[in-house]
Amino acid sequence: AKIIVIGAVAGGATVASQIRRLDPDSDITVYEKDRDMSFANCGLPYYLGEVVEDRDMMLSATPDQFKEKKHITVKTYHEAIELNDSKKTITIKNHETGEIFEDAYDKLILSPGCRARHLGFQSDRVFTLRNLVDTDKIEDFIQKENVQSALIVGAGYVSLEILENLYNRNIETTLIHRSDHINKSMDRDLNKVIFDELEKRNIPYRLNEEIADISGREVTFKSGKTESYDLVITGVGIEPNSDWLKSSSLKLNEKGYIPVNEYFETNLDDVYALGDVIETFYRHTKKPTSVTLAWGAHRAAALIAENITSNSSSPKATFKGLLGTNIVKMFDYALGSVGVSESELSNYDYDVVEQTQKQHAGYYPSAEPLTLRVYFDKVTRKILRACAVGKDGADKRIDIIATAIIGDLTVDELRDIEIAYAPPFSSPKDIVNMIGYKAQ
Ligand code: FAD
Repeated sequence: AKIIVIGAVAGGATVASQIRRLDPDSDITVYEKDRDMSFANCGLPYYLGEVVEDRDMMLSATPDQFKEKKHITVKTYHEAIELNDSKKTITIKNHETGEIFEDAYDKLILSPGCRARHLGFQSDRVFTLRNLVDTDKIEDFIQKENVQSALIVGAGYVSLEILENLYNRNIETTLIHRSDHINKSMDRDLNKVIFDELEKRNIPYRLNEEIADISGREVTFKSGKTESYDLVITGVGIEPNSDWLKSSSLKLNEKGYIPVNEYFETNLDDVYALGDVIETFYRHTKKPTSVTLAWGAHRAAALIAENITSNSSSPKATFKGLLGTNIVKMFDYALGSVGVSESELSNYDYDVVEQTQKQHAGYYPSAEPLTLRVYFDKVTRKILRACAVGKDGADKRIDIIATAIIGDLTVDELRDIEIAYAPPFSSPKDIVNMIGYKAQ
């Protein structure tokens, strides 16, 4: 079969590799509009912060390696500009030569991801961070201009990671955010530790603040203030790379995401989609959602590959849905959540239990408070959402709750989870168990 994949990063490169692993024969071509394939988006803030020092570690594969090791053709600087679904072809523009051509597919897999939203200021000091090209530009600018100060605009998790990393690199950082609601995956009040961490380090931040104008280093704000920055990085949201699909019969939702079913099939025959660009569904509530995080892209890649390469008489591998499990590090703290968003909770008749206790035995060194909050349906007692915040152990607890939701446990059954206990790790009644007891 002739398989065409659009996008060569998390979803695209992974699905191509997985198909090859299961099927040595199919003809696989991946088109990528930008310079690189298979780079580690998630690591880019840490590369900028010099936590990861080797740039090569950010690039996990090249087209030459894919050709040689996997017999997969990856064409970079090749942008898909039209889907001709009635002919089963895709129109591609080669940005290096200007050539435009059509390529026919038996199966088409779309993983074009999302792009950073831009504020539209014309300035060579303003950057966004979405890929390795952006990272190289920022790194180059920091070095050439000997950057001493940076303004971070927007307070989603990527912006927070950039802020921490630039600060740790001894660049004076300032944060502004358009509203007073930062880091939206976390319950609003639990974000307080983020502000505490900023204040502890005298990192200035202003909420309900926006840029009005930028001229050279001078940034004028809507509040009327004018300040000088060497570098401005904006993280003000993302939008799906699906505009080029609007001329086809492919269905998009009102925000431009591609709805898929439990096999990652779109409304068109033989056209699949995965990654940040899709609208899928929550595992536990079955309600639609788009989760623009890496786990879903990798899970989808494995399932699509399985279904495309298996013979049509065997039952299809079915995706069970996402929980949106996420975590961010903010200096000494980790903030994680799982399940429906805080704003979606209003669709449910829910109760909430919260517990704060030390992450491990209080007498053992480095005991630190950890807060776990669990929302559950009042009638079914099934878990809807949870948040965990602390200096240590939040990741483990959020992952336990994710597993509990997948196992369809009720909040009461959290009492039954037999947690591995020795003083450096937990308590005989771990915080997860305590939530179950408190829910009674
Ligand atoms: P992408 O990886 O974005 O790849 C899409 C590719 O398609 C792009 O290279 C794009 O150029 C290409 N493309 C788009 N349109 C076309 C076209 N028309 N023709 C050809 N090619 C096209 N997730 C986590 O889970 N944890 C994290 O800690 C985390 N940190 C992140 C940090 C940063 C700075 C960023 C930017 C993202 C982070 N993510 C994180 C998100 C994660 O990287 C994405 O969820 C994941 O990369 C999505 O994979 P994808 O294949 O859908 O899209």
